[in-house]
Amino acid sequence: MSTADNNKRTELGALGEFGIIDRIAENFKTHKQASTALGIGDDAALIDCGDFYQVISTDMLVEGIHFDLSYMPLQHLGFKSVSVNISDIAAMNAIPKQITVNVALSNRFSVEAVDAIYDGIQKACDTFGVDLVGGDTTSSPGGLMISITAIGTAEKDTVVKRSGASSGDIICATGDLGAAYIGLQVLMREKAEFKANPNMQPKLEQYDYVVGRQLRPMARMDVIHELGKLGVVPTAMMDISDGLASELMHISKQSNVGVNVFEDKLPIHQITYENAVEFQLDPVIAAMNGGEDYELLFCIKQDDYEKIKNLPDVHTIGYIQDLEKGRNLVSKQGNVYPLKAQGFTHM
Ligand code: ADP
Ligand code: MG
Repeated sequence: MSTADNNKRTELGALGEFGIIDRIAENFKTHKQASTALGIGDDAALIDCGDFYQVISTDMLVEGIHFDLSYMPLQHLGFKSVSVNISDIAAMNAIPKQITVNVALSNRFSVEAVDAIYDGIQKACDTFGVDLVGGDTTSSPGGLMISITAIGTAEKDTVVKRSGASSGDIICATGDLGAAYIGLQVLMREKAEFKANPNMQPKLEQYDYVVGRQLRPMARMDVIHELGKLGVVPTAMMDISDGLASELMHISKQSNVGVNVFEDKLPIHQITYENAVEFQLDPVIAAMNGGEDYELLFCIKQDDYEKIKNLPDVHTIGYIQDLEKGRNLVSKQGNVYPLKAQGFTHM
């Protein structure tokens, strides 16, 4: 790359995940293809196919970084790796159609293990109505990696980017937040306890909900279909993979607007509350800065509020305001806290 200086070494951690992506994007300014309608920077890329857009997104899951096989069943891993990609297609208000799957396997894994992963991939393909149309299989020196590309289609007049929000829009979040992060804490504690005492019987029943949210996230295509039926096109949308605060920052930056969200409006499941308290974790921090909920964050025009207000799984959490008014979380007591770009970064 033209900016590389052979004598200089900058640690990856100095830039972080988003900094690295920005740097890559800045160094690739040229667009050679007229059909490249939207490139790096949204949940998925858009390719102009004349009457419609083709929507493409890719995500990689790496053992030891994104999952730990001591608590992640292989079927669930297969399902999750598809679901997180479908979630990015949903975030464009698009319909997923095909996936390709790349796997890197070491000789630690058996044929049966590969069958189990693909069993989960098959379940996800059935759930989301997509076809597996290709991929690549290679060896790895140790860990397991799965990289999936999802391909979908979007109508040109209903595709939704991160950049379309404007002052006065209502901010909505689907489902509930923070559970996947609390589920991860449960699983990590169980792993540590099992290491200390391999004879122990794990007692996970009271954590079924949060553990399920961590192991088996469900992309919210159901909400996309509901919005479609109601004729509601969000002004901006993305999926919540890195925690609500980080995603609000993305919408704010890319739409050039401020945000105001209310702590008492955050959708947090009662069980998440109870489990978080037991782990001495703050459920609001789990919702704002945890990760992997794979819910949708979107903005709508005020005029559309009547249409969505009865959807049980869509919650209004705040509103878009002018950029000068800032990006704020308003606490239950009415205190205003500026949002921090504290993403869920693996680096
Ligand atoms: P998401 O969390 O929605 O999957 P990411 O934060 O992973 O999105 O990526 C943000 C944007 O940066 C996306 O448009 C993605 O395609 C792009 N991107 C991420 N990594 C790279 C890379 N190594 N090279 C080019 N583009 C990248
Ligand atoms: Mg995304």
